[in-house]
Amino acid sequence: MSNTLQAIRGMNDILPEQTPVWQFVENTLRDVLQNYGFREIRMPVLEKTELFKRSIGEVTDIVEKEMYTFTDRNGDSLTLRPEGTAGCVRACIQHSLINRQTQRLWYTGPMFRHERPQQGRYRQFFQIGVEVFGLEGPDIDAEMLMMTARLWRRLGLKQVSLQVNSLGTADVRANYREALVAYLDTVYQQLDEDSQRRLKTNPLRILDSKNTAVQALLEGAPVLADFLDEESRTHFRALCEQLDLARIDYIVNPRLVRGLDYYGRTVFEWVTDQLGAQGTVCAGGRYDVLVEYLGGRATPAIGFALGLERLIALLEKQGVETPDTSPHLYVVTVGEQAQQQGMVLSEHLRDALPGLRLVTHCGGGSFKSQFKKADRSGAHYALVLGDDEVQRRVAGIKPLRDREEQQTVSFDELNSRLADLFGLQLN
Ligand code: ATP
Ligand code: MG
Repeated sequence: MSNTLQAIRGMNDILPEQTPVWQFVENTLRDVLQNYGFREIRMPVLEKTELFKRSIGEVTDIVEKEMYTFTDRNGDSLTLRPEGTAGCVRACIQHSLINRQTQRLWYTGPMFRHERPQQGRYRQFFQIGVEVFGLEGPDIDAEMLMMTARLWRRLGLKQVSLQVNSLGTADVRANYREALVAYLDTVYQQLDEDSQRRLKTNPLRILDSKNTAVQALLEGAPVLADFLDEESRTHFRALCEQLDLARIDYIVNPRLVRGLDYYGRTVFEWVTDQLGAQGTVCAGGRYDVLVEYLGGRATPAIGFALGLERLIALLEKQGVETPDTSPHLYVVTVGEQAQQQGMVLSEHLRDALPGLRLVTHCGGGSFKSQFKKADRSGAHYALVLGDDEVQRRVAGIKPLRDREEQQTVSFDELNSRLADLFGLQLN
């Protein structure tokens, strides 16, 4: 193995055994997003480095130490996107999608961050991102949360809980920052190195510290809620009321802040205690200043991103059943005529039964070796065809997964028999 090439640490291959659950999640998410009138947008994976520096903020973990940045052949500094919001806002401004218009958008794809790889934390990971432009909320804030709650229901996920908070306006955060710094200065010696550094650069981020000793110190810290302006307070109250009406459980977590600088007012996270330290599966909030900051017309906005690896790990942990994707049928043919007619018949079946998953054996060999391959394919039944069957215009249907008897069915009845057997619609 040592001589063969390996994938980059923290960047995973997703193998054929794993893709069915990915497809289940992606398809379900796409459905639900469509149900709510969201449209897909696709952006490049590479952007100019400046975009992320300006939008995410110079003194965040991502920009300070996690970006994959390089100089291309023209001498331009480019970065593999660490998240999707910046690129989405850039695209909306560039193509004038948000001049006095509401946009409900989503995207999916890989994101890149140079973090320490561990369970639930990778260097390439997949997100589904959702952004709404042009609505001030709190109705849309509530709808975003109702939509995510529906996602969990549709996926069959349990035990994800919602935490919400309001970060208020920029002035509120500036006042709060002062009070927080004053408090943390009194316990400076007990802070870890990271927090000591952040105290100078980005003190609010200390609230997000994963260090339990730091978290304990924060118990005594002033809370942002006490500094909120009246408008943010009203906004937050309306959001909570709407969630109550929709019977969505949530916890107000006064220490919830987001890792990126552009958030204000509503922020939220969906968390689980079933994935160890990497328990946040979905996170987002309002970023009303970003569009203008990146050169667009002032536009309120809210969004969230869902981490697909964590979501899938949770589905697997909870043993959620995903749709069967193994072949219904594996066509076994022995004899020259049977082999030719088998291919013709397979195409007819695909025409007649659009939902049919059918593998036609290729490569010849004995019945025995073909059945072995049929079995290994995971197929539920084999369709058996020899030259003799072709003459009589019949095929054998042999169960591969249980002890039912093999049946012989005439070509004329085959379509309807298979439709019954697999619960499929005839074309
Ligand atoms: P964390 O606090 O766990 O580092 P974050 O605040 O950096 O998360 P966001 O930038 O808000 O995360 O990204 C949204 C979601 O994307 C996260 O809640 C998580 O599910 C997922 N995510 C973020 N970073 C990673 C990663 N390195 N590997 C896998 N998933 C990730
Ligand atoms: Mg992070």
